[in-house]
Amino acid sequence: MAYAYDDQNIFAKILRGEIPNATVLETEHTLAFNDIRPQAPVHVLVIPKGRYVTFDDFAAHASPEEIVDFHRVAARIVAEAGIGPGAGGAGYRTISNAGADAVQEVPHYHLHILAGRPLGRMLDRG
Ligand code: 5GP
Repeated sequence: MAYAYDDQNIFAKILRGEIPNATVLETEHTLAFNDIRPQAPVHVLVIPKGRYVTFDDFAAHASPEEIVDFHRVAARIVAEAGIGPGAGGAGYRTISNAGADAVQEVPHYHLHILAGRPLGRMLDRG
């Protein structure tokens, strides 16, 4: 079944400028901003400007330009924050929640970039 995009989701409102955000980086296709409830010293959300609900929706339906731009923005955030292990940083985690089991709160595709403290094992069992 195809995804139905909800134009009233909070990130759609941020993209329309109806709600403020702390922008970290913006390009033609992508916006990155600080999470309002950070779970680590670095907690940035990267979102496409297009109407995609989840990772699989974005990966299947976005244009190559959107997909490349999205990932380049994420890479620039890692580089500028100095958290990439390849550049001597202490590391980071990317997370993308999709649907009920993953407790996706906002139905607009987003990548969390978390860093700045030890992040523990990948999943807890709660
Ligand atoms: P999800 O659970 O969907 O993967 O994550 C949604 C994230 O969006 C949460 O970490 C939450 O703190 C963040 N968030 C929700 N509403 C807002 C908002 O209005 N502004 C910002 N910057 N982040 C938000």
